[in-house]
Amino acid sequence: GPEEVTYTCPKDGGNLDIILDYEAIKGQYTPKNFMGLPEASLWRYHNLLPVEDPGGYETPLHRAGWTPVYKTTRLAKKLGLEQLWVKDESPNPTASFKDRASAIVVARAIQIGAEVTVAASTGNAGAALAGMAAAVGTQAVIFAPKSAPPAKIAQLIVFGARVLLVDGTYDQAFDLSIEATQNFGWYNRNTGYNPFTAEGKKTAGFEIWEQVIRRLPEDGKPLTVFIPVGDGNIISGVHKGFKDLKALGWLAHMPRIIGVQSEGSATIANTFHQGDEDIHAVQADTLADSISVDLPRDGVRALRAARETGGTYITVPDSAILTAIAELGRVGIFAEPAAATAYAGLVKAMDESVVASDDPVLVLSTGSGFKDVKAAMQAVSAAPIIEPT
Ligand SMILES: *Cc1c(COP(=O)(O)O)cnc(C)c1O
Repeated sequence: GPEEVTYTCPKDGGNLDIILDYEAIKGQYTPKNFMGLPEASLWRYHNLLPVEDPGGYETPLHRAGWTPVYKTTRLAKKLGLEQLWVKDESPNPTASFKDRASAIVVARAIQIGAEVTVAASTGNAGAALAGMAAAVGTQAVIFAPKSAPPAKIAQLIVFGARVLLVDGTYDQAFDLSIEATQNFGWYNRNTGYNPFTAEGKKTAGFEIWEQVIRRLPEDGKPLTVFIPVGDGNIISGVHKGFKDLKALGWLAHMPRIIGVQSEGSATIANTFHQGDEDIHAVQADTLADSISVDLPRDGVRALRAARETGGTYITVPDSAILTAIAELGRVGIFAEPAAATAYAGLVKAMDESVVASDDPVLVLSTGSGFKDVKAAMQAVSAAPIIEPT
């Protein structure tokens, strides 16, 4: 149980899944208990989460999750799809998907009495931890590569975290944070290390079920979901959410999950297409900083998310990511590069007939364009400057 093991598998260092007592949940609840609740956050699914109520009502901790799903009719038409939804994670309190994981990890930290929580982050996970910790007045320490976009670093500092900018890569920051955890007894939130992050991320799967899947005809095609992948914890978490629902007998058809990576950071996609589970490090090089990862920390589960659901992996160049930022912008969605990557993957999937026109499709846009304004400006042409006449 979670009292014996805090992080990874003591035998082989693999990532651990938290298994719920599905029989007990089934005995007490039906899907109706979770539909249309007034709680406009991921805490609407508290009875499917392995943490005690952390309190913090009317703080940002109770605003993580329950993000909108937009029906993007014009984009659908352009791509030749009958139905396309974009789930936009930018309304989260710190403006990315990572708030889901950080809310649950902070709840766990409160439950076990941890005073300091630490994370390594390319920016968003740290900002999310710093923000959620600030919401309930606990302390956060963040190791981030000094190359992280300035907006993300500003968030970390404004939220009052102790910020250490590492003159190196995310992977080096990750290793440092583990050392700090071991030396100082801090509680570690790292992605692909702390099993509670995926439990937070699975709530997006629950929401997709409530907001979209339950409205599709039961005898129709299952939903295809596009997810941007760096470490692989979001795709694993969303898959876990669907698996929980399946175990409860509440999900008729498992959605098809398609992971999208930047060509410059494509270890998991490469392994997927090799057909095995041997993940090799690359030297990541992509403008999508949130998915720029040398050695993914949740690669095996990320592979299985696509393999076990009849999905696949797609890679896209940075130029296609920039184009995707501009296209999402034209339907009112402002995405950071990593967030726009999923849409870029859908464009390629349509070109390669991985998706049929009558497949219902959902694209997960994982974070706000305000996180990386420099990239946004690269995605569009500059406005003309005129005389004030
Ligand atoms: C972290 C992140 C991702 C990738 O998630 P992984 O769990 O690393 O695969 C994608 N988009 C954004 C905006 C992120 O912050």
